[in-house]
Amino acid sequence: MYKHLPDLAPPQTALERLPEEWSAQLEAWGEPKYRGKQVFQWLHARGVLDPAAMTNLPKSLRDRLAQDLVIDAAIQVSSVHDSEDGTKKLLLTTHDGRTSEAVLIPMPSAERGDTYAAEDPSGEETASEPQTPVTQCISTQIGCAMGCVFCASGLAGLKRHMSAGEIVGQVILGRAHTAEGSRLRNVVFMGMGEPLHNYAAVARALTLLTHPEGLALSKRRVTISTSGLVPEIDRLGRDFGGEVQLAVSLHSPDDAQRSQIMPINKKHPLPELMEALRRYPLPKRRRITIEYTLIKGFNADPSDAKKLAELLRGLPVKVNLIPLNRVEGNPLEPPSWDDVDAFQATLRDGGVANFVRRRKGDDIAAACGQLALRNEPKKIRVALPQLRG
Ligand code: SF4
Repeated sequence: MYKHLPDLAPPQTALERLPEEWSAQLEAWGEPKYRGKQVFQWLHARGVLDPAAMTNLPKSLRDRLAQDLVIDAAIQVSSVHDSEDGTKKLLLTTHDGRTSEAVLIPMPSAERGDTYAAEDPSGEETASEPQTPVTQCISTQIGCAMGCVFCASGLAGLKRHMSAGEIVGQVILGRAHTAEGSRLRNVVFMGMGEPLHNYAAVARALTLLTHPEGLALSKRRVTISTSGLVPEIDRLGRDFGGEVQLAVSLHSPDDAQRSQIMPINKKHPLPELMEALRRYPLPKRRRITIEYTLIKGFNADPSDAKKLAELLRGLPVKVNLIPLNRVEGNPLEPPSWDDVDAFQATLRDGGVANFVRRRKGDDIAAACGQLALRNEPKKIRVALPQLRG
């Protein structure tokens, strides 16, 4: 039995079943229990979705799997876009014709420790790896209900939650599209959607992705990013013992200012959020990532950096500074690189570890905040924050 299995809702599709759930299904068909583990390994460890190719299963079982169960990734790759910097964007289509995207970001050794893609959530050294490690960014919802004003995903609102099968399917497909000489190493839940707003599917997906008989991703190499859903941060900490890496989109050290760009702040203001971060049962020597998008004339002044350092004092965090990615139709802009440097220096002087995320995949609109819902009818509702000067 999987050690950290949280109290999961039942699986909805074949791809969402854990080995013990496969065993129960196959035993009901008169098959030995161990076949459950074999089927799970084919699907998740090897990424083989066609029962006919599961060669260590008897022909009768392969036929029955093909006949009785629809096993597919619940999500298909409709096109692949390659960026000049090696970033690869997979355009995905769901069974109901929705569009989503997953991004594969290589971490060349020269860039490790310098970029977002290079960021190792575990803080472990990666330079000695013979293969180029790849970070995959995946989505958890079609659209997003959180309405952050700087984010393309939030502009059109929430269309629907993604299933655990659709979430895991992105990683199975992503691994299959990882370039030769590369290895999928980190998965970040930072694409379209607020992962903790879709907690049940995300918890099952986490359990599947980290299962030792499946993809076997280390929990410390899986990052859940949240805009600050406090009860679900607590739940994640409880269910996974704090081992799953946590990233928090903060973007402002001031309640009134944060509420202007992130409506969730009105429900869970900063003091409540900071308390939740203090409670998160983080293992020793690990840190929570704080995402901070720098917006010109809004939150990118050295005085904001000072306030941020005060807010984060005593917390085990590192700050990921992200110059705003321009979103079509949204007039907000990133600050100049000189202003970014000044912000970073002030934060460092305040004793807060930080790094600047360089943009990856800009030329294919794969950078964070650009996962637009191009095929969805758009009703853009941007409430611009009050800018200084
Ligand atoms: S930043 Fe994240 S939480 Fe906010 S609207 Fe975009 S996807 Fe949703």
